[in-house]
Amino acid sequence: MNIHEYQAKELLAKYGVGIPAGYPALTVEEALEGAKKLPGPLYVVKAQIHAGGRGKGTFKELGPDAKGGVRLSDSLEAVETNAREMLGNTLVTVQTGDAGKEVNRLYITDGVDIAEEYYLSLLVDRASGEVALIVSTEGGMDIEEVAHSTPEKITTITIDPAQGFMPHHGRAVAFALKLKGDLNKQAQKLAKQLYTAFVDLDCEMLEINPLVETKDEQLLVLDTKMSFDSNALYRHKDVAELRDESEEDPMEIEASKHDLAYIKLDGDIGCMVNGAGLAMATMDIIKLNGAFPANFLDVGGGANKEKVTAAFKIILSDPAVKGILVNIFGGIMRCDIIAEGIVAAAKEVDLSVPLVVRLEGTNVEKGKEILETSGLPIVSADDLGDAAKKIVGEVKQAA
Ligand code: ADP
Ligand code: MG
Repeated sequence: MNIHEYQAKELLAKYGVGIPAGYPALTVEEALEGAKKLPGPLYVVKAQIHAGGRGKGTFKELGPDAKGGVRLSDSLEAVETNAREMLGNTLVTVQTGDAGKEVNRLYITDGVDIAEEYYLSLLVDRASGEVALIVSTEGGMDIEEVAHSTPEKITTITIDPAQGFMPHHGRAVAFALKLKGDLNKQAQKLAKQLYTAFVDLDCEMLEINPLVETKDEQLLVLDTKMSFDSNALYRHKDVAELRDESEEDPMEIEASKHDLAYIKLDGDIGCMVNGAGLAMATMDIIKLNGAFPANFLDVGGGANKEKVTAAFKIILSDPAVKGILVNIFGGIMRCDIIAEGIVAAAKEVDLSVPLVVRLEGTNVEKGKEILETSGLPIVSADDLGDAAKKIVGEVKQAA
């Protein structure tokens, strides 16, 4: 789960992290109210969307010459104008895709006198099972570009979570950022605060870009992106409340209501599978047969008729779907029960695309019989390879 910049900053402030003052706003009036509480005379109006690259972004409605989603404003009038221009318009950045994202929230924050921009992030390094702290003196720019062309400018420090954050980790961060004197001390302290927040809150990723050194030698977090391990959200009710569903894919929200693991993808073959491993294998074999999956969907081990119906509805609500492949292994759940669920669901949702079903496991013969005698145009498949071949063939034929 992702949250907005202003929410992440509020969370980090609780850990003592240096953050410029700021206020979220949903209207032009609120933006002005927020600005009036700040010292001025330099304010920054920032679009709050779940995507980065806002500064270099463009608004669909305003054309390529207008300013982006992070605007320095040197008066209250400028705050008002900028807020008015941004709210309700669509911001397109390198991370939003061509469709862009509508800006419904702003963050009005103190303008900072920047001396240097650095990069710092924390993430779970799955290969080592440790927390990776990634730092670079080249912040503010496109960090992917730095990683690609000058990888020596990026330092990775890994922290064993069993051992926790040690003073030498802090020194390594300050050294990598080439900081001296008090700034060096500030960096050590900041690294520890960020690590503590990261572990405490079960983050998946915490990125500070830029982390800035101000002209009066303060280290401040100017921008931050935070994402959380959804499986751990039950431990953090306050974080879970920060979810902004208007920023998420409506189909993924619907899926989570039915406890279905669904991720939208770019292809045209909808998949309904039980078990994440089987779902991965199903997507692979669709690709092997020259097509692309429209989604990842794991209905879970205890899939019943209601879940299967909900899954069908979600898959079919995606206009890109040209065919559906159901691949279910009946272990705990018997194949005949699953077949009944599929038939009932297919009737209920008024199936309009080819459907190939591969069942395996307990009572598979009974299950296949139910599919065959259902009167529905369901194509039965014997194994995974056969199923993939059949659905790709059916979709090509229908096109
Ligand atoms: P994004 O990464 O989405 O483009 P940022 O918050 O990183 O958005 O802002 C882009 C740039 O705008 C920063 O690299 C920084 O130079 C400038 N900026 C952002 N916030 C402030 C601020 N409070 N004061 C001064 N400059 C800022
Ligand atoms: Mg940024």
